[in-house]
Amino acid sequence: MANVAQNAFLGLSRNELTALVEEWGEPSYRASQLVEAIYRQRVESVEQISTLPQQLRSKLVKMGATVGLPKIDKRFVSVDGTVRYLMEFADGLSVETVWMPEGDGGEAGDGSEAGDAISARGWDRATICVSSQVGCAVECQFCLTALLGMKRNLTAGEIVGQVCAVLKDQKVSPPQDRINLVFMGMGEPFLNYDNFIKAARLLVEEVGVAEPRMTVSTAGIVPRIHDFGLEPLRPKLAISLNASNDAARTQLMPLNRKWDLEKLIAAAREFPLRNRERITFEYVLLDGVNDSVMNANEVAELLRGMRAKVNLIALNPGPGIQFSTPAEGRVNAFQQTLIRAGIPTFVRRPRGRDIFAACGQLKRTVEIATAPAV
Ligand code: SF4
Repeated sequence: MANVAQNAFLGLSRNELTALVEEWGEPSYRASQLVEAIYRQRVESVEQISTLPQQLRSKLVKMGATVGLPKIDKRFVSVDGTVRYLMEFADGLSVETVWMPEGDGGEAGDGSEAGDAISARGWDRATICVSSQVGCAVECQFCLTALLGMKRNLTAGEIVGQVCAVLKDQKVSPPQDRINLVFMGMGEPFLNYDNFIKAARLLVEEVGVAEPRMTVSTAGIVPRIHDFGLEPLRPKLAISLNASNDAARTQLMPLNRKWDLEKLIAAAREFPLRNRERITFEYVLLDGVNDSVMNANEVAELLRGMRAKVNLIALNPGPGIQFSTPAEGRVNAFQQTLIRAGIPTFVRRPRGRDIFAACGQLKRTVEIATAPAV
């Protein structure tokens, strides 16, 4: 697949930028100036990199070099403060990136500080939900993104660029501001593994996001879970479970045919966890499908003895999705069953439902979003 952002600086590492400036016959400290301008100041154009001499800037513009920051095409603002951004890339394709002041509760109980909060300015920590692909090939039956099909992978620069664009728009900066990242937007990050890992590295080393504040969610691409465990720098791992037995999981997530629960749970058990770290299992509750106490007991059995926690998400309804949201009583009964089995279990608050920003709802729903674009 062509790198649509191949003239862009975003996505290049410090070493790659150093090689570039040497190619131009410039001193190597220019690479640090570029890093500072692109990842920290988050400039929008080469012209704005004021530390570079004007002559060099003009030369770069002539060469067709760009920063590669995605364009914020639209913003949908929810009553709860969540903002759903429509980000457009150089080739005109777009993804969604979601800003959630105060997070979505998904960080609670995972052994990091990310879930603790007090606030002086309305929010004390915020979470950005980042996309990794345009569309998705995985076909989870409860997910709106799946209906889009798969368009293409995002480059590392396009993944980092979403974060930079949101930070700039919200006028915040890690590490001074407590920013959590979840790679849970459109797409399956482990099917775009190299770009995702490179982006995670850049986000920690150059943008300044704290490594323990990042979480990636996979639908269960087992070989990549093994690879991921070996990475020297990595976000925390979340696995999208959503069913308690193979028959149900294959129906909801067809990739279970290839990587069934036995393989998935074995990979999770072997995953090398750091101190205080737990694997998160995400479980979307669908009324009458996977939300009974019997299902909860099966989940408890699957996760027995594992350093894990469970995040429950009552389905976020959407057009074209055949399932419905369970009543609160069923959600509570499911949660209590897991807690009694000794598994820390949290119910994630739905964020931005009114603007289709909640989990499984990202599908460039411009035409059906009810909130005003600003
Ligand atoms: S839930 Fe995630 S992996 Fe599954 S179809 Fe949606 S975006 Fe893809």
